[in-house]
Amino acid sequence: MQHYQAPESLLKDRIVLVTGAGSGIGKTAAKIYASYGATVILMGKTLAKLEQVYDEIEAAGDPQPAICPLDFATANPNDYKSIADTLNDEFPHLDGLLHNASVLGQRTPIAQYSPETWHQVIQVNLNAQFMLTQSLLPMLEQSKDASIIFTSSGVGTKGRAYWGAYAVSKFATEGLMETLADELDGVSTIRANTLNPGATRTAMRATAYPAENPNTLKTAEDIMPIYLYLMGPDSKGISGQRFNCQAEG
Ligand code: NDP
Repeated sequence: MQHYQAPESLLKDRIVLVTGAGSGIGKTAAKIYASYGATVILMGKTLAKLEQVYDEIEAAGDPQPAICPLDFATANPNDYKSIADTLNDEFPHLDGLLHNASVLGQRTPIAQYSPETWHQVIQVNLNAQFMLTQSLLPMLEQSKDASIIFTSSGVGTKGRAYWGAYAVSKFATEGLMETLADELDGVSTIRANTLNPGATRTAMRATAYPAENPNTLKTAEDIMPIYLYLMGPDSKGISGQRFNCQAEG
């Protein structure tokens, strides 16, 4: 699937929500989904970044997106409910949900890890995905074949020293996906899978590996084939699986 070639109208008439859509991989995914015909709901922390993506999608002549700012670090269950109510008033269904937003937290041993940072990382990287998914399940059920993509990491299946709450949040993301996919199996057309982007040239990667030459890394554009495959109808019926954009990450 790393070389999947999407048909031009792959996401025509589909409505998809991307978290962390203002920068990095999420920005690229939002723009490419729009270029394949999707109406994209841009969710993220920083409004100005979402507005910039909105303008770029409009300038490209792709379907008009929607902006939905939300800080996952502070949002509570009522915030997710009210966003779901608003989206439900504006859109007839939701065909895709890309959980992409994450924070890195500290790169430090467990022995020294700050409890405050731990809570924040788990809140943004895990609890937000649970609350957002739960609130949007009724809209996803209105789609004929909705796709939920959770973003994992190499440290989401094999623990690594100093990755702290980030690694733990990605292990939990794998668990959330598997639990949800099993619950949906046979009773819903919604599918859920995890996707590990692998080493990709973004701000987060540069923070995690400051000495690395970014030019040696894949760009977000390079890894988009699987993002398209999993979001579009060609992956219908595939659920509970782990995907990797690159051989290693
Ligand atoms: P970036 O740091 O470049 O982007 C992260 C995005 O998450 C930003 O748009 C950011 O919004 C958003 N975000 C952060 N905090 C919050 C919050 N409190 N509320 C809402 N949104 C928030 O990361 P990448 O693009 O590199 O990563 C995207 C995904 O891929 C992540 O899940 C990451 O774990 C995963 N990944 C990345 C790898 C890589 O090499 N790049 C490797 C493996 C996994 P804002 O800019 O407004 O803060």
